[in-house]
Amino acid sequence: MMDISRLFELDSGTDWAFLTKPKKHSGRQITYSRARMRGGCGNHNDCAYLVPPEANFDSWRELGADGWSGKDVRPYFEHLKERVTIEQRPERHLASRAFIEAGVALGLPKVDFGIGMLTLNVHGRLRNSSSVAYLHPLTSLPPNLEIQTDTLVGRIKFIGSVASACLTGRGRIAAGREIIVCAGSIQPPQLLLSSGIGDAADLRELGIDVVHHSPGVGKHPIDHYSVPVIFETAAPVPDRHITPYEAIAMLNTTPGAQSVESQLQLGPTAGWVNGRFGDEYQASTPKRDLLLRSSRMSPEAGATGSENYLPRYLRRADNRPQLSFGRRSLRREYSARERFVCRRLGQTESFKRIISKELLPGPDIIQESDLREYIRKNCQTNYHAAGTCRAGSANDPNAVASPI
Ligand SMILES: Cc1cc2nc3c(=O)[nH]c(=O)nc-3n(C[C@H](O)[C@H](O)[C@H](O)COP(=O)(O)OP(=O)(O)OC[C@H]3O[C@@H](n4cnc5c(N)ncnc54)[C@H](O)[C@@H]3O)c2cc1C
Repeated sequence: MMDISRLFELDSGTDWAFLTKPKKHSGRQITYSRARMRGGCGNHNDCAYLVPPEANFDSWRELGADGWSGKDVRPYFEHLKERVTIEQRPERHLASRAFIEAGVALGLPKVDFGIGMLTLNVHGRLRNSSSVAYLHPLTSLPPNLEIQTDTLVGRIKFIGSVASACLTGRGRIAAGREIIVCAGSIQPPQLLLSSGIGDAADLRELGIDVVHHSPGVGKHPIDHYSVPVIFETAAPVPDRHITPYEAIAMLNTTPGAQSVESQLQLGPTAGWVNGRFGDEYQASTPKRDLLLRSSRMSPEAGATGSENYLPRYLRRADNRPQLSFGRRSLRREYSARERFVCRRLGQTESFKRIISKELLPGPDIIQESDLREYIRKNCQTNYHAAGTCRAGSANDPNAVASPI
């Protein structure tokens, strides 16, 4: 999986392939990719390297996450560059050039947080995942580090309120000083709940001894949708140099907004159709389509609400988490302005040179109700789940991780 052009080749050996809860009426489920590899999803993700504006972190701090303000986290982004290679894609592909010219024609600035080519954490074609950047070469690991692969932690054992060991399928691993849970955003609630950390009433109902009452565990997952706008190209689209998603636009969709609210990524449809993304849309001819996928960036746009309460999966026979996307997030996810921008990009002179028509949603889909139906059938996750063990001050009953 180190070659970034291999975006869509996931199987059960490399990915957990979680599924979202079936939608009530359509039964539709979305595959929720999560890597099962040393170094996690950095080994099979898109490697887009975007540093959020400091104001975003400042809002975390205001919500109670001490030590996470923009100023506090800036040095970590600097340290990261000492190990991780960051490369800007060159403006070579005709579709990327047309996209950027189109955005500039619509008045978007061609700078960071405007429209331009992506920066990627890659070295040439190779993903520079956390495993590659921090562990390789595996033949010369520090003497105080031992890595056990294929070892799932099922439960953390506590003596009183002190975590003393990890219980795995391969035996018990005693804590030297502490245990740090860094298992991504989907699985930690399962681990914490199985270990007795969660809402006490739920734990009792499940027959699990309560170690610590923490009602927020698993309760606040957020993510953002992508919605595709697909154009037919006038001629076959040449292959990208290394990755399907190289060009991006960052948008503010409400006048006066201080931080980026939406992102548009340009790519071919192949990924949407054949790989981890696709189920609904049937491609016309491979490589004659271009995809603009638009997604909202603000946390309140995400999957929210009680139907997302992750502890439910502990009651499932296969013990696998299922996320669910609420209707509220659907409504917010794809504002009129984003639709307008996607379509306007398609109508600019530079884009018109390479595309022949809008295939999806298609020129006939204009009414709000039709667009909603289209989104319901075609939206996908952006795989950026967060919030299942959210940070906050010690006074926040729903904070699972409180900075100390
Ligand atoms: C398809 C896809 C595309 C993405 N594209 C981008 C992108 O372009 N740019 C970007 O910045 N972000 C992207 N992301 C998000 C990014 O990859 C994640 O935010 C990041 O990998 C999270 O890192 P993590 O270490 O917290 O968790 P993960 O990467 O999820 O790693 C967690 C690891 O813990 C392991 N694990 C889980 N439970 C247990 C257990 N009980 N015992 C032992 N091990 C366990 C898992 O197998 C996994 O290896 C993408 C994600 C996906 C899935």
